[in-house]
Amino acid sequence: MSHEYDADLDRKVRSIALKWGGDLIGVCSVESLYHLPDHESKIKEMLGDAKTIVVAAVRMFPAPLECSDKNVRPAQYETYCLYRELDKISFEVSKFLDDSGYQAISIPAFLPVEMSLEKWGLLADVSLRHAAEEAGLGRIGLNRLLITKRFGAHVRITGVITNASLKPDKKLDEEICDKCGLCMEACPVGAITEDGKVDVRKCAPEILKYGLPGLVGFVRKWLGKGEKEIIEMTKDPVFWELWQTSMLGSFYYCFQCITACPIGKKQKTK
Ligand code: SF4
Ligand code: SF4
Repeated sequence: MSHEYDADLDRKVRSIALKWGGDLIGVCSVESLYHLPDHESKIKEMLGDAKTIVVAAVRMFPAPLECSDKNVRPAQYETYCLYRELDKISFEVSKFLDDSGYQAISIPAFLPVEMSLEKWGLLADVSLRHAAEEAGLGRIGLNRLLITKRFGAHVRITGVITNASLKPDKKLDEEICDKCGLCMEACPVGAITEDGKVDVRKCAPEILKYGLPGLVGFVRKWLGKGEKEIIEMTKDPVFWELWQTSMLGSFYYCFQCITACPIGKKQKTK
């Protein structure tokens, strides 16, 4: 195993990510993320001699998103499928790197993440949005999502940290988000502000209605109840929704700031 740049290895890593379904592929150096809170320590804790991160994005199809305000299930199912796609890409890239004598660690596109009471949130070990931005896949927009030229905000991302010296791509110079404000207007709880901040305390109860905030709310109602009342509560569709959400592992109940973004939307042909 060499720590020198190997153009053939670099090309093969990218082509594997592409072959397994990546729509956009890039590489960033780990150092490019060290300005983000805890990133240097977290990355070094996982892989002491980490050098680069391979980042892949897969597009979301517009139709499930566009009906998500009326029926959220198609977008939830698409997201579920997308995460499986991303898992495949990161696993195959990791396998190839391992076979080539390098270390590789996949960063989950979704769970598991650190659950932090201190910072109030479900925190990823590495911000994939920022890794994708550094790897030249797009820029972060007003809605704090990665906005790509080709698919706008309609992407999900995965990444693999490795000690292979791959060639980092160039971060895009120009902004892609034109600050049109449509994502801000579409947010049902006013969580997005004009200066490009997202208030997670407003967003989380909406997007994770039947995720952790929903579960905590339901369990609270359970407290102090007698057996009969508890049996009645298990017949509540909210309880069933919590069960379905946990079984499927797809927690999102709001896609409005993704759907509203006009960047990269294809012209309708009919
Ligand atoms: S996911 Fe929904 S609630 Fe959260 S910021 Fe986007 S539009 Fe607002
Ligand atoms: S909807 Fe407009 S403001 Fe929001 S991210 Fe997209 S381009 Fe930027």
